[in-house]
Amino acid sequence: MRFSRLRLNGFKSFVDPTDLVIHEGLTGVVGPNGCGKSNLLEALRWVMGENRPTAMRGGGMEDVIFAGAATRGARHFAEVSLVIDNHDRLAPSGFNDADTIEIVRRITRDAGSAYKANAKDVRARDVQMLFADASTGSHSPALVRQGQISELINAKPKARRRILEEAAGISGLYARRHEAELKLSGAEQNLLRVDDVLEGLA
Ligand code: ATP
Repeated sequence: MRFSRLRLNGFKSFVDPTDLVIHEGLTGVVGPNGCGKSNLLEALRWVMGENRPTAMRGGGMEDVIFAGAATRGARHFAEVSLVIDNHDRLAPSGFNDADTIEIVRRITRDAGSAYKANAKDVRARDVQMLFADASTGSHSPALVRQGQISELINAKPKARRRILEEAAGISGLYARRHEAELKLSGAEQNLLRVDDVLEGLA
């Protein structure tokens, strides 16, 4: 499973449709200050399900939509699509029956985000789990943003452990465990209520 293409439309400074072909061996992006290098990395994180506006350097998620410039009006939506080459059939189950997987995230002002996987509507969680199970995702340590190396050096042991877990691909298991714990605690509450009702009937 390999990222092969990133398409941006109305995302931050990429107001016009932009297609980035990700050839094998691409490890970095260089360019003049302010040309959009960090925006590209943020687009990649965003399409993989990033849900913290601060991680996108914004106050709200709608800040990722092109906000307008001297000669161009603001846009009403932003869309990022990530094409994954799955010829090696290494994508996690549920997504593994196609040669190519295309994940699209679109945000519209006042309507929030919607996701598609190969043109079918999916939930944010499905997309986040796909990438977590593939040992990548919006928090992946493989995506190195500015200042991250010094943060890593100064990180507390707990934070460093989280990075290692992310790289080992077990963060999806933690998310599933958390969901299971919530369901269990819901079931326990229901059982207590049943006990109360039974006591009332006795
Ligand atoms: P540096 O090397 O200085 O870190 P960079 O190449 O990483 O720069 P980015 O930070 O990706 O550049 O891009 C910054 C540009 O994106 C700025 O010109 C900023 O105005 C523009 N930008 C960010 N968000 C939006 C938005 N929502 N609408 C329009 N332009 C935006």
